[in-house]
Amino acid sequence: MSGKNRERLYLAERYFQSFLNFIFPSKCKICGKTLRKNEVLVCKDCEEKLNFHRFREVKRALDSESILYSFLSFEDIVKDFIHLFKYYGYIPVGKRIVGFLKEKFSFDFLDDYQYYLPVPLHKKKLKERGFNQSELISNWVVEKDKIEKFSFLERKKYGISQASLSRNERIKNIKGSFGLKREVDNSIYKDKNILIIDDILTTGATFIEIRKVLSPLGFQKIDIMTLSTPREL
Ligand SMILES: [Zn+2]
Repeated sequence: MSGKNRERLYLAERYFQSFLNFIFPSKCKICGKTLRKNEVLVCKDCEEKLNFHRFREVKRALDSESILYSFLSFEDIVKDFIHLFKYYGYIPVGKRIVGFLKEKFSFDFLDDYQYYLPVPLHKKKLKERGFNQSELISNWVVEKDKIEKFSFLERKKYGISQASLSRNERIKNIKGSFGLKREVDNSIYKDKNILIIDDILTTGATFIEIRKVLSPLGFQKIDIMTLSTPREL
């Protein structure tokens, strides 16, 4: 099922779920408490905890070349929310995180970019997961009439999930993972800015690999936005 269809299905389920909750109360996916009326998947108390969570400084230099925009420290309740979204496929939970960030932070920095790029998944992984979380985040964040999607990057290598690997293994695992689907006309991108969008940046290895492929196209700025980042980064 495509991400979009899955999203629609969840929306339909949402209404059905509130009805079901009325008869058979279901449990919060995070704390296990019985959900009240109008609560879907996660209770209001758990959502509220996001409010008290430690936030990152939104904009900072990732290295001498690129800027990283990120909001949440990847710990405690944030981990639970992101895992429910990414690994358990609870798309409304992902949408809730983005909605929450949009209430709290300005996304004006998007105006600096002419292109955005959701980090692509390998075809096989996309089939397994049913959706690309970076694509969904982009859909919730980017205003499509203002900024254009760069759709020529593909993930060529089906690697093991980066989450299970150490720093050095991650660098090795991701090496050579990305390439261009076809030759593109470099002149279009000269002096333009592109923002890569992902759910989490851990070591930055994925981003650096993507930048290697995009740099020769002449982009002026290649930056990244993620929902979350480990605190120590
Ligand atoms: Zn809860």
